[in-house]
Amino acid sequence: MKIPLPQLSFAFAGAPGPAPGATDGAVLDEANATAYVEMTCRSILNWSQGTRMRDVFTVNPYRGCEFGCAYCYARYTHEFLELAHWEDFERRIFVKSNAPEVMRRELKRKDVLGHGIAIGTATDPYQPAERRFGITRRILEGLLPYRDIPISLISKSGLIERDVELLASLARRHPLRVLTSCISLDRDLLRALERRAPVPERRFRAMERLSAAGVTCGLIVAPILPGLTDGVDHLTALLVRAKQAGASFAHSNVLFLRSSAKKRFFPWLRENAPWLHERYGAAYAKGAYESDDYRAQVRRHVAEAMARAGFDEGPRRFGNRGEAA
Ligand code: SF4
Repeated sequence: MKIPLPQLSFAFAGAPGPAPGATDGAVLDEANATAYVEMTCRSILNWSQGTRMRDVFTVNPYRGCEFGCAYCYARYTHEFLELAHWEDFERRIFVKSNAPEVMRRELKRKDVLGHGIAIGTATDPYQPAERRFGITRRILEGLLPYRDIPISLISKSGLIERDVELLASLARRHPLRVLTSCISLDRDLLRALERRAPVPERRFRAMERLSAAGVTCGLIVAPILPGLTDGVDHLTALLVRAKQAGASFAHSNVLFLRSSAKKRFFPWLRENAPWLHERYGAAYAKGAYESDDYRAQVRRHVAEAMARAGFDEGPRRFGNRGEAA
């Protein structure tokens, strides 16, 4: 259903009007109270200038993410749109509707080829909006005529199974790696933490299909949550399941909390794990990272869990999305 954005205010108390670049209409998914706002972008390949992801262009077909993970680091991107309420990030999804055409144009630039492309570094490229808009699929199709571009794609979604054949075709032409994002096998914990994301088993079934189709698959365990998911046994169980599903590598990272993510995560913590509230408050009082000592301890836990699960490479950190997705 097409309705003008101002009518959405009933569903988004406190949300301001349309963001710059948005069209004047939105598609409202009434069952989920989610608004999809189509917008145009001038560029879709963003050069990563951070210290964690080098020499790579990042691609994010959607802004906002309906999966709504309490820890999601990408919430700050909605603040740029003056949508500061945490629920806006999960309920008002911006769809970069011209991204596939922009991508095809940008791939012709000489400075683009020769670098990697990382898809889904901020928000999930196979979140529910993809079922309706298919932007990620069309972006991937645009890469088919090329060869030897290192491509990575991160997702929690089972919808990725829809594109198994396309991803297998890409894997025959490019070094392609698909990373399944999962921080725990504990369904109850994830149901509370990642409100609308698929259960872990759904993600691993998708990994099994991708792996069987010849796609290189890995697990990304990020964020590791202090006191909740950082134990060796917990990590081992997760890594063993990933290995069974066909993962050949794994990355991990400890929770990274910007101020925009703290606004959502701390209330979640108070409600769901009050015994940890003080600990997190002290650990993240001055910044976005846990202490060096704690992170070193977690690296040891991950190394032990990796060895137990039969992964032959040591623990590695991943890029921006690795901090939260
Ligand atoms: S962490 Fe990933 S899957 Fe979860 S809300 Fe953020 S972008 Fe979506």
